[in-house]
Amino acid sequence: MSKSLSRLWIIIPCYNEENVLPITSELFLNELNDLIDKKKIAEDSRILFVNDGSKDKTWNIICDLAKIDPHYIGISQSRNRGHQNAVLAGMMEAKEKADITISIDCDGQDDIAAMEAMVDEYHNGNEVVYGVRSTRKTDTFFKRFTAESFYKLLNAMGAEVVFNHADYRLVSSKVLKEFAEFQEVNLFLRGLIPLVGFKSTSVYYERHERIAGESHYPLSKMLGLAFDGITSLSVRPIQMITMFGCFVAFMSFLGIIWAIIDVILGKTVQGWASMTCIICFFSGIQLISLGIIGNYIGKIYMEVKHRPRYIISERTWENEE
Ligand code: UDP
Ligand code: MG
Repeated sequence: MSKSLSRLWIIIPCYNEENVLPITSELFLNELNDLIDKKKIAEDSRILFVNDGSKDKTWNIICDLAKIDPHYIGISQSRNRGHQNAVLAGMMEAKEKADITISIDCDGQDDIAAMEAMVDEYHNGNEVVYGVRSTRKTDTFFKRFTAESFYKLLNAMGAEVVFNHADYRLVSSKVLKEFAEFQEVNLFLRGLIPLVGFKSTSVYYERHERIAGESHYPLSKMLGLAFDGITSLSVRPIQMITMFGCFVAFMSFLGIIWAIIDVILGKTVQGWASMTCIICFFSGIQLISLGIIGNYIGKIYMEVKHRPRYIISERTWENEE
């Protein structure tokens, strides 16, 4: 098959990972060499680190790695733009030079050994291979519960995502070239890649604990990501507001009839409490609805500006010579 020796680029976003990189970079290289030895990928495959505006020594470490072994290369974003934009920057960098890309976090939580199965699936004709966590044994109950609710909520709201799949995935350059046409600024890769289509499958793996350092995704960021995912991929919340609006209008109509009947029967003095409750309830609902609609308008505002989604300030291969 002509696909047999494809160039693989492993894309690794790194933000303040000076404790982790020295350990995991070696693991990535071992895996890459292993795949090269097995003749599953081409010798000129690469490990691309994307420094996401780290404030520690991450970029220096990446530059040093690039000097040690030609398989290591790196790009640096001009400032911190977040995980999704870092992965995007790496994918766009790779789309012309690689045949396949695998994006993976740099903290060693995702099973690096699953890459072989992903590459095999690519050779079986899949253009996208999702890495899916088979269990969440190492997560705390709270993390597992919130994360699983996150996927259920996303799907219920009409954002199609693969259950328990994060950002560990193989994507072929064919898909990346089509994906480059998706110009949105509000990025939620997990929901966007399935929209590109093409033949896809999943590979299952166990997720480990972080090798070192701390998670950059506390609950607040996770809730933010969930909300972003929903509002970037679906207009169902606005539809729900409209439906709820119709329901409320119908109830109000019944309320009016009730009030008129009460007036006719001459018992209108009471009712202060119920009135207060109704006013409070509906002002709450209205504010929430306005907030959700405002959020969509905010997103439209950001999209209309059409700002660049990432800016690369340095590349390791430009530092050389
Ligand atoms: N990351 C990034 N930019 C950020 C935050 C995180 O590039 O602003 C990277 C980080 O270095 C790691 C990956 O995104 O490689 C996932 O982050 P983390 O492990 O902190 O998240 P968790 O696995 O806890 O969800
Ligand atoms: Mg992690």
